[in-house]
Amino acid sequence: EASSSDDFQTLLSWADKHRRLKVRANAETPEDAAKARELGAEGIGLCRTEHMFFEATRIEKMRAMILSESKEERQQYLDELLEFQRQDMLELFRAMDGLPVTIRLLDPPLHEFLPHEEHEMQALADAVGKPLEKIREITEGLSEVNPMLGFRGCRLSIVYPEITEMQVKAIMTAAVDAVEQGIKPMPEIMIPLVVNVREIRLITEIIDRGVQEVLRERQVSVPYKVGTMMETPRATLGADRLAPEVEFMSFGTNDLTQMTYGFSRDDVGKFIPSYIEKKIVDSDPFVSLDQRAVGRLMEMAVQESRRVKKGIKYGICGEHGGDPRSIRFCHNLGLDYVSCSPYRVPIARMAAAQAHVEASEED
Ligand code: PEP
Ligand code: MG
Repeated sequence: EASSSDDFQTLLSWADKHRRLKVRANAETPEDAAKARELGAEGIGLCRTEHMFFEATRIEKMRAMILSESKEERQQYLDELLEFQRQDMLELFRAMDGLPVTIRLLDPPLHEFLPHEEHEMQALADAVGKPLEKIREITEGLSEVNPMLGFRGCRLSIVYPEITEMQVKAIMTAAVDAVEQGIKPMPEIMIPLVVNVREIRLITEIIDRGVQEVLRERQVSVPYKVGTMMETPRATLGADRLAPEVEFMSFGTNDLTQMTYGFSRDDVGKFIPSYIEKKIVDSDPFVSLDQRAVGRLMEMAVQESRRVKKGIKYGICGEHGGDPRSIRFCHNLGLDYVSCSPYRVPIARMAAAQAHVEASEED
């Protein structure tokens, strides 16, 4: 007897025949990756590597790394973090065998990783063998008034290139391990919070050097791509300058919305409902793309970058990537894929098909 779930699968397989947009998932755990694939994801569009370190046993090493006072000290913790990262990456490549896995370099809003409570500082002090006073002093030195506009994203890679070196080594070692196990890894390394081309050049140099080192040592070849997040207005406005340096661009519409409107993405509940009611905005801009604002910046970025270079792949990995109205906009803009949370993958597949059918009818 056919169940409604069978009917839904049939419907989805029809939808898949009528869409052009690929649907990927945002995932960083093997469980989420497996779930995503089961729900039809065609790759991972965003692996937020900082999320791999939230777990209790790992966050302390991450904290110790961030609070390190010298390169040597930082290196010691990076070596320990590398192993976690390598293991997780291998599992992601396994779950997404033959499909792209976009791994974003570390983008931790520092405030999420700094110790806040006295007991957290004490635990860290004990773990790293420093006095509590010292830990408090370093934490205060690192705390920022506007952490979301602060020392995060690629700014971290620029100041501490060794973090990127560690991540690239972990990613490529995992990729080679995967190949040796008969898996086909397709790593795509993504640079977060870019504002200009100089950042991309400096970081790409580190990436390429790290990749070559691993591949030469292991005598295996793995194709890889380097691309950038498009999540600051500055990046979208300079897309023609970024284009020659990248193979893909992924719109991070969470940050792009925050910076375009000047609305904090972490405080939306406070006033957005009144703004919707009073028709200042037609809907929550963090859920649905505003085509005249964030959408307009995306459109300009695609046009300008395409003008100077063909073949760039375009995606979206902010929350909007799972929103049907926004998916229609992304289809019309000619993006290659949307990436959303695993549970939204089926909805995104349907929305992508609907967008395609609607656009064909208009022709
Ligand atoms: C974004 O800003 O849209 C994005 C995908 O990155 P994050 O949500 O991790 O800042
Ligand atoms: Mg972001």
